Amino acid sequence: MKQNFTLFSKNLLRWYDTNKRTLPWRGESDPYRIWLSEIMLQQTQAERVSHYYLKWVKRFPTLESVAQAKEENLLKVWEGLGYYNRCRNFHRAAKTVLKDYNGEIPCEFNLFRTLPGVGDYTASAVLSIGFGVPLPAIDGNIKRVMVRVLRIKTLTKYNYQRIKKLLEKSIDKNRPGDFNQGLMDLGNQICRPNQAHCYTCPLEVFCGAAQTDFPEAYPQPALPRIVPHYDVVVGLVWKKDRFLILKRENRNHLGGLWELPGGKIEFRESPEQALIREIKEECNVDVILGKSTEPIKHRYSHFSIEIRAIHCQLQNGMKVFSNQPSQWITPEQIIDYPFPKANHKLFTQINFETNIA
Ligand code: SF4
Repeated sequence: MKQNFTLFSKNLLRWYDTNKRTLPWRGESDPYRIWLSEIMLQQTQAERVSHYYLKWVKRFPTLESVAQAKEENLLKVWEGLGYYNRCRNFHRAAKTVLKDYNGEIPCEFNLFRTLPGVGDYTASAVLSIGFGVPLPAIDGNIKRVMVRVLRIKTLTKYNYQRIKKLLEKSIDKNRPGDFNQGLMDLGNQICRPNQAHCYTCPLEVFCGAAQTDFPEAYPQPALPRIVPHYDVVVGLVWKKDRFLILKRENRNHLGGLWELPGGKIEFRESPEQALIREIKEECNVDVILGKSTEPIKHRYSHFSIEIRAIHCQLQNGMKVFSNQPSQWITPEQIIDYPFPKANHKLFTQINFETNIA
């Protein structure tokens, strides 16, 4: 890249002023809402976040309302967005701001960075957009753009520092938030992973990859990941018109959400054997099995599952004893509890009229 940092920034901001995406948090000056949007945007596309963001701010308009809410109510609004640790950490962070900072979000990097769920990227994004602090916020889109500008094949730690330094020199001190969001939008709209539209790009004149026949070759594609697959069985354990649900432990994947008892089917186990074993382990009860639903498929970020539910009844007189919090709910109460998406898919398969064969 030619060492003209001012022009780099100027070209980018001119492009951003006429091409920025319309998103509900754009133009927002409340640091709480900017922070919320950045937490929701972690590993999630902006288009998908918009709906959840609007629903959330309607229900929890201030950081104080988040801090004072019950975790379960927050998870219910977050339900379906995934990566539930983000929600729990945001709740903890909101409580910390209320308790330790008198409700004022700290605008110093080193203080803000210590809050639960806040990493380098989130701290830089929130402080640059919400407080005008000139810090580059390097997300996936920005990495791709800058890797191409610098014509980097592999993003090593050394190369990451090169990108960071270049951005620190280029960032517009008067509009750091727009500078960061401009690069993010450029990566989203122009410098796409499989298609770089260099002829419309405001950075073409600075870009090393644009001088090649195939700018998309930067960075070198990573080797495809093998995604593990699991077969899972869960039980609809009935007591009259109610069935049993358990709350997942916070430290686990999907922690804090509710689920049906059950688990992975082990090698050489039938779904029925697996369910009897799992319910014994989780609830210390024996069950009589009834009908099974058709299995449904669901893919999480790091693995995929095929899950089925089997109607069950407790053996005579047995009482559930579980280390996890438990509830007996009617089908109508499903909407009152946050469940993983796979459970919701499964609920649509279940005929709640016939609860035992
Ligand atoms: S010129 Fe092309 S490769 Fe370079 S940043 Fe712009 S779109 Fe990406």
